[in-house]
Amino acid sequence: MQTFADELQALRAQGLYRSMRVISGAQGSRVELDGRQVLLFCSNNYLGLADHPALKRAAVEGAALGAGSGASRLVSGTMDLHERLEARIAAFKGTEAALVFNSGYAANTGIISALVGRGDAIFSDRLNHASIVDGALLSRAGFHRYPHRDMDALERLLQEKGGKGRRLIVTDGVFSMDGDIAPLAKLVQLARRYDALVMVDDAHGSGVLGATGRGSGELCGVLDGIDVHMGTLGKGFGSFGAYAATSATIRDYLVNKARSFIFSTSLPPAVLAASIAALELVDSPEGARLRERLAANTALFKARLAASGFDTMGSQTQIVPIFVGPAKATMEFSGELLEQGLFVQGIRPPTVPAGSCRLRCTIMATHEPAELEQAADTIRRVGKKLGVV
Ligand SMILES: *Cc1c(COP(=O)(O)O)cnc(C)c1O
Repeated sequence: MQTFADELQALRAQGLYRSMRVISGAQGSRVELDGRQVLLFCSNNYLGLADHPALKRAAVEGAALGAGSGASRLVSGTMDLHERLEARIAAFKGTEAALVFNSGYAANTGIISALVGRGDAIFSDRLNHASIVDGALLSRAGFHRYPHRDMDALERLLQEKGGKGRRLIVTDGVFSMDGDIAPLAKLVQLARRYDALVMVDDAHGSGVLGATGRGSGELCGVLDGIDVHMGTLGKGFGSFGAYAATSATIRDYLVNKARSFIFSTSLPPAVLAASIAALELVDSPEGARLRERLAANTALFKARLAASGFDTMGSQTQIVPIFVGPAKATMEFSGELLEQGLFVQGIRPPTVPAGSCRLRCTIMATHEPAELEQAADTIRRVGKKLGVV
């Protein structure tokens, strides 16, 4: 039998070993890492809300109600702040109702395993987030994966699989490691034709994409065609937690069936208050300005990378991958960037398929133009030195 230590050693040998980097101080566009200021280009804090004064103030006020909620929602852990946040989310997404989960991971595993079970069928993009895959495995429903964004393949699967059970099409709105967007208009059309439910995980689109920040569904003009809008509060919204925005009936069903909701202590008041403040901000003129800044920053950064000859893998959003290929070369690239004061993570299997390792740069509304230029310049120099371009 292989020991744990042996397995860890094997991961190291393959360039697949993972470890954590510790940040001291606040989550800004520059952070202190191992006692040194570095430029941050790998956070999902896209709008810079994580250290926004309005969110911090709301969190402090929420904390006055206590550090914890004391119980799960169905016991004594439902505070009026939970219901206020849910009403705010439903209003934002234009749905009848919403239900808050403790994290995106808990939301996906809970929602999917509740909505479908044995005898049902799940249709899932091959590049969907790991929490969707885990939810599908937990559900015991048939799990049918189609090639990335391939709607013809999805249609063939819908024709062939599923029988009489419930059918659920689930997709990332924005793909977290590629930064491209699901073809939601076509997907919703297929769902109607083949009588399937649509669930969109908009962890990276909510608050960020669309004219009013409603996410990838708004961008594609199909908000109304989505049955379950899953989104997270820890990325663009700068807080923590996640939600399903959906019909009153499905919300009620999830309250009764979603095990990650039922069997877990609910979010504490400081987090809820910060999330409510985040929604207010995203919906305000300041939110619109931040989205404009984010789009302009992304365009500038991508133009610089393209001019240097990097392959950004069809990114359509603020998630900007740089294709490298092998795991070791990717980690060498990110290690060298860090030495030059730029913090970008290399992404390897099992997060992405073998041979498609990449740097995953993420742009924030709070990056200054000079910081974007500096980052692009550092990437160009190191990329040349390592022979990536
Ligand atoms: C980050 C992410 C999640 C998980 O959300 P957490 O709140 O961080 O647990 C789920 N889906 C996608 C697509 C994500 O990127």
